[in-house]
Amino acid sequence: MKTFGLFIDGEWQDAKGGKTAPTINPATEEPWATVAVADPEDVRKAVAAAKRAHDSGVWRNKSPQERGEIMQRVASAIMESTSDLAAAEVQDSGATMRKAMMTDVAGAAGTFTYFGQFIAGDDYKRMLCEEYEEVAPIPSKNLVVREPFGVCAGITPWNFPLVMAAWKIAPAIAAGNTVVIKPASVTPVTTLMLGEICTKAGVPAGVVNVVSGPGATAGEELAAHPDVGKVSFTGSTEVGRRIMQLGAGTLKKVTLELGGKSPNIILPDANLDTAALGALWGTFFHQGQVCESGTRVLVHESIHDKFLEKMIAGISRIKIGDTMDMATTMGPVVSAVQRETVERYVALGNEQGAKCLVGGKRPSGMAKGYYYEPTVFDNVDNKMRIAQEEIFGPVVSIIRFKDEDEAVRIANDSTYGLGGAVWSSNKDRALALAKRIETGTVWINDYHLINVKYPFGGYKQSGVGRELGKWGIAEYHEIKHIHIGEDTPPEGKLYLGLLLS
Ligand code: NDP
Repeated sequence: MKTFGLFIDGEWQDAKGGKTAPTINPATEEPWATVAVADPEDVRKAVAAAKRAHDSGVWRNKSPQERGEIMQRVASAIMESTSDLAAAEVQDSGATMRKAMMTDVAGAAGTFTYFGQFIAGDDYKRMLCEEYEEVAPIPSKNLVVREPFGVCAGITPWNFPLVMAAWKIAPAIAAGNTVVIKPASVTPVTTLMLGEICTKAGVPAGVVNVVSGPGATAGEELAAHPDVGKVSFTGSTEVGRRIMQLGAGTLKKVTLELGGKSPNIILPDANLDTAALGALWGTFFHQGQVCESGTRVLVHESIHDKFLEKMIAGISRIKIGDTMDMATTMGPVVSAVQRETVERYVALGNEQGAKCLVGGKRPSGMAKGYYYEPTVFDNVDNKMRIAQEEIFGPVVSIIRFKDEDEAVRIANDSTYGLGGAVWSSNKDRALALAKRIETGTVWINDYHLINVKYPFGGYKQSGVGRELGKWGIAEYHEIKHIHIGEDTPPEGKLYLGLLLS
């Protein structure tokens, strides 16, 4: 069995209390690695290492080009470790090997490549220092400069552990900060591996630190620590609220990427073959454990039956099985606890009168693993709990609408506002509808295509702030205004007359 420590100050360290915990492969229900469990003292040690590294200037005083070059080396090192990282992600999180190779490893490397290139370019140079000349009330030159916060904390979930770690680390260090990352307790391994990869690729010791430990103790310590200037969190809305409260003690900057119940709207003029398969992709990719999943499929009543027929036919093409097999397209959910959550919601859907057309149970013939069948509920009313609450499993609700106004009303009748889509052969019509949906991302005739160049985040209770792109890196800077006045005799300083007679 593999063993992992905490990654602090550029080296592997045991947890102070010596505690370790196994991490379970969701496909086999067997432990596959042992990981050190940080307590608050370990977190304080990691924050101290990150603060020392920041204060020393070893990272922030490098030019953006130098930092960018090192980040390109991190990206290459991630790609060189593809097999190890993908195997770890599969065993830790229940991802399929297909997803781990094509999405997780490539996505993490792509995030370092993008931010490394961005900070080496002219757009970032302009962003770092803007200059303005003023003539009134007195002549001055004004610089608006951006500076790193210092120590940034990242707290990440279990659905995309490696990609989420990259989304937190890459923009933070690109902007000159140092980081302490706490991965989810059930999926710590690839984040720990990434910490070591960063250091080996040339990121100085102490700039990237990884502490795996329970949210309730290690996570709280990190989110509240006075030397942490900014916290970026991805996870449930409930814990997001708690992170805000913890940060409030020292008025930290906070970015939150939270839950969703995203609407996927199928207009009557959509290409139904594509839209039906797109709805499967939008809901069942990674067993539905994706925050922006299109879990409410809003279908125009005139195409409802035909659309559902195609969608259900498509389910037979989803291959549930051994996650290490490249042919498998659907693995288990992350844990026994998560499968129980899914089962609770399926029972609720049945109780509240929705019609379970497909799935609604564990697959037969699979003795081990937290597997669950892709499940489609029809006749869902948007008020039902399965349409309002995040399930985070392979369960989709089909909701009919009569016209576009009703589709918009249903789409926006949610406390969440993360993602969504419109499928139509008329792009103008789809665009007009997309603008009326209260979410941070809307796809037209596609789903789940998050691009590291463009902002990602939520309206309403789906989040605060944005990740990715120039909007994402902007969240990792303090903004300073420097006023440069003229060196004149006192008569030149008109404001002195306000005080002096
Ligand atoms: P959480 O929101 O509980 O966990 C996310 C991260 O926060 C983990 O690293 C967790 O650590 C940490 N954490 C938990 N409590 C605290 C705390 N008090 N202070 C600081 N950090 C904390 O998600 P769950 O794993 O419990 O999943 C619950 C539900 O959240 C899912 O069913 C799903 O609906 C939603 N979710 C949404 C995600 C998204 O991408 N938006 C991703 C994952 C889940 P630890 O693992 O040790 O508890």
